Amino acid sequence: MTKPDFNNFPSSFRGSTFRPDDPDYAQVRTIWNCRTADATPAFIAQCADVDDVVTAVRFASEHNLPFAIRGGGHSMDGSSMPDGAFVVDLSLLKSIEVDPESGKVKAEPGVLLGEIDAATQQYGLVVPSGTVTHTGVAGLALGGGLGFNTRRFGMTVDNMLACDLVTVDGRKVRASADENPELFWGLRGAGHNLGVVTSFEFQAHRVGPDVYSGMIIYSLDDAEKVLTGLDAHMAAASRALTVDPVLLPAPPLPGLPESLVEAPILILIVVYTGDPATGEDTIAELLAALGTPIANAVGPSTWLEANSILDSISPHGRRNYSRGGYIAGLTQPVVAEFLEQISQTPAPDGPPMSAAIAIQAVSGAVHEFDEDSVAFSRTGAMWLWEALVGWDAPDRDEEFLGFTARVLDALKPHILSNSYVNLTAHQGEEWLRGLYGSPEKFRRLQQLKSEWDPRNLLRFNKNIEPSR
Ligand SMILES: Cc1cc2nc3c(=O)[nH]c(=O)nc-3n(C[C@H](O)[C@H](O)[C@H](O)COP(=O)(O)OP(=O)(O)OC[C@H]3O[C@@H](n4cnc5c(N)ncnc54)[C@H](O)[C@@H]3O)c2cc1C
Repeated sequence: MTKPDFNNFPSSFRGSTFRPDDPDYAQVRTIWNCRTADATPAFIAQCADVDDVVTAVRFASEHNLPFAIRGGGHSMDGSSMPDGAFVVDLSLLKSIEVDPESGKVKAEPGVLLGEIDAATQQYGLVVPSGTVTHTGVAGLALGGGLGFNTRRFGMTVDNMLACDLVTVDGRKVRASADENPELFWGLRGAGHNLGVVTSFEFQAHRVGPDVYSGMIIYSLDDAEKVLTGLDAHMAAASRALTVDPVLLPAPPLPGLPESLVEAPILILIVVYTGDPATGEDTIAELLAALGTPIANAVGPSTWLEANSILDSISPHGRRNYSRGGYIAGLTQPVVAEFLEQISQTPAPDGPPMSAAIAIQAVSGAVHEFDEDSVAFSRTGAMWLWEALVGWDAPDRDEEFLGFTARVLDALKPHILSNSYVNLTAHQGEEWLRGLYGSPEKFRRLQQLKSEWDPRNLLRFNKNIEPSR
């Protein structure tokens, strides 16, 4: 690697550049997760357009310089703003085009989930994606994309039609079923490793604006019955219904007795996107199967309200970490481990929540797409769980990281060997090799990496090294 002289960064670059001493540097380098706030990237090139991306990437290539990519800035490992790195910042590339007739949606890589939802909802459409409005479309879509529409339409990768990208040597190429199909296969699950995507094309679906959503709260005493009952209920439930359980020490919530605040409870996050006229009956059937809750706050809402339900527990500026994986079912032994672990969380450190076990449905339409249709792996997965922590005091890092490690250890006997790259911090080389589901898929990805990024310039990610 030749040491880059950023004084020679091309003057043709139209965007802005930032070095540690520049006045706006601190603001530009700040990402959602404050745990890596001490990291000081050497040079941030904030692109104004796709030609800027080419300029920045060619600079990196000419200097044989590994570079990071900043999309929405929500990677759990802080990989979009690493210490000492050259960062290609795409956060200002925010164009969204919606074709209301075909439902095809084009989005640039600086777009956030709330922005794509707002643009598509103007036409009653939704691109299946994730659940917190300030998450980046780019990183989410290139890893998989799991959310409240997954049971109906599959993952974001299952609804991706094409990507335009800049290769690590600075060429503009397109990847779709017809053009560079092998690259397109890899981009849908391992896309952080293969090039800089400058435009996504998705197939949106009719959803909303009126849906049913909200939270249902159960006591921990009822949680085993509710969670195992939920597993059975969802196997036959409408795919328009998603119920994502969260176990956590209770924050103050409407309808929750004060005596339960800070005691571990079970919250079901419920979103029903079917005919609103059937919403009430759908929720009544759910409650009949699970039992009487402490509080039920599910009711009519808009899709935009439903898909921002989790924003309030995911604020910017805290120290955050998560580890998790797939499970085949909410069986009694699995649930017993969850309940044991949620009773041993570290003492809270600041609002709105400090520790949780969050579980998301990976069922329904997801399994209509063949395991080998894209790089993302799904075989056997019915739920994805994460031990999530958010805290403020740096001197409590060990305590909070320790909680996620203990939950992971306790769940080890039940976790599938395949996993989802996005909703967890890195779990090491062995985990990475199992992540994509089979040795054949991993080898296929290594070959793609050798072809599209042989020098491993894109290594600030859950890195697949080129095959030698
Ligand atoms: C609060 C929160 C809620 C979340 N909720 C969900 C959820 O509901 N469902 C879900 O599936 N996931 C969810 N995630 C996980 C999320 O999908 C990943 O963290 C994802 O990587 C975020 O993408 P980003 O663009 O915001 O992040 P960034 O940190 O900017 O990028 C993440 C990774 O993607 C790479 N990358 C970014 N842009 C590009 C590009 N244009 N081309 C190539 N590589 C690129 C980066 O190099 C980096 O490795 C959530 C994360 C957070 C923090």
